[in-house]
Amino acid sequence: MDSFYRQNILDHYKNPCNFGRLKDKHASYSLDNPFCGDRIGMEIKLKIENGKLKIVDDIKFYGEGCAISVASASILTEKVKGMDIDKVKKLTADDIFDLLGIKLTPTRLKCALLPLEALHKTLSLVKES
Ligand code: ZN
Repeated sequence: MDSFYRQNILDHYKNPCNFGRLKDKHASYSLDNPFCGDRIGMEIKLKIENGKLKIVDDIKFYGEGCAISVASASILTEKVKGMDIDKVKKLTADDIFDLLGIKLTPTRLKCALLPLEALHKTLSLVKES
């Protein structure tokens, strides 16, 4: 494992970005990963552009998990802040692996992808208008 990325993950785990709850939100959803005991919830607040809720204005995550799931949530929320939600919906597992920058064992894949799954579920709950 590359030591830079390894350190980056540990830093995000110890001091996660965007950890907490939002006062105003458009949607939230939390997911469990029973294999590891992770539970990550996402809350988003969107901004209107051209008459539609389109831009991630603010995002926070909550819950608890292992270093990989928490670091993945921290890095993901940093990335999507200010993004168009249509682009966020298109983020894939490969994007997460690129952001984390490490090779993951099969049991850790679920941990790494849990925040993205929770985010996609959250976005699917946003009502257009
Ligand atoms: Zn985990």
